[in-house]
Amino acid sequence: MQAYELDRPERLRAHLACTRQLYQPLADGQGTLRWQRLNADDERPFVVPAEPPVFSAKAFFFAEREALFRYENGQFIPLPPAVHPQVLFGLAACDLTAVAYQDRFFASDPHYQARRAATLLVGVDCAHSCRHGFCAMMDSGPEVRPHTADLILCPLEQRWLLLVASEPGEQALTGLALQPAPADWARQRDAQALQVAVEQGEQTEIALGCAALNGETVDSQTWEALGLRCLGCSGCTSVCPTCSCFAPLQQPGVAGGVVQERVWDSCLYQGFQKEASGHNPSATPGQRVQRFWYHKFGDDFRQRFGRDGCVGCGRCDAVCPGGIGVHQVMKRIGQP
Ligand code: SF4
Ligand code: SF4
Repeated sequence: MQAYELDRPERLRAHLACTRQLYQPLADGQGTLRWQRLNADDERPFVVPAEPPVFSAKAFFFAEREALFRYENGQFIPLPPAVHPQVLFGLAACDLTAVAYQDRFFASDPHYQARRAATLLVGVDCAHSCRHGFCAMMDSGPEVRPHTADLILCPLEQRWLLLVASEPGEQALTGLALQPAPADWARQRDAQALQVAVEQGEQTEIALGCAALNGETVDSQTWEALGLRCLGCSGCTSVCPTCSCFAPLQQPGVAGGVVQERVWDSCLYQGFQKEASGHNPSATPGQRVQRFWYHKFGDDFRQRFGRDGCVGCGRCDAVCPGGIGVHQVMKRIGQP
């Protein structure tokens, strides 16, 4: 990868924002980080987030609600999304791995792919572990994986390392004066990543929980005990960067036609799998909780997608009102 020395990330940000809509996680005034749009002349300092933003970047590609096509006078009429060149600035390594995961899931989806093709991804290495993160053991961080980003920022002491990870990334730098980075900065980056991994610790409950889940040693009473704590609020599935369930929704169109929409759905909802016959393969809360975690850590899904469905962002720990985020669940099911 081409490596440059960068004095201020804000200079890169302003450069990219001249030709694209730029979004960055920013404080919302209520103590949380949310993705917000910035103009090229915005001089707010760029700070590596200590915690991930409440929502990941998935809604930029997989819209929470959108129309797919309309049916009128016996014809299906596609409704392609309005797409603008955009840049997501300051994505953490775990969220970039999640985007790469979603890229595979939505590989044949024209709406997702249209937005994705118009987007430049600028990742940033984490200099410290967030509260609930375990990206190091999930092979998704703390340093940005090159195949997941176009450009990578790495904060080093009073300077920034800028790595070019793709051809669009290289092109986006045209016109920006940059000097090559000193050769030893790559070693500093590796050392920093190792330090963050040490901060995260071993977190053995995750590995033990995975082994129990795939060894099918978890009895149904354990899952139902966890299910009792699930309120079916969909908090976890909304914030999880790899959750991709959606439901079709038909709205009346013009002249008796129909507009077909899709909306985010949640496998923790009681009726998520309910069939037209009335049969529900995941009728109990415990079955639904089990299903969710099998999709994150099950061997079948790992084989299908080339990695686990969990990237270790810890958001489910932060939002679950029932206290059954990833650490609590893995700890409970991994107990002998
Ligand atoms: S956030 Fe917790 S309570 Fe809400 S649906 Fe997910 S597991 Fe259930
Ligand atoms: S399951 Fe939890 S920790 Fe894993 S990616 Fe989803 S929200 Fe993050």
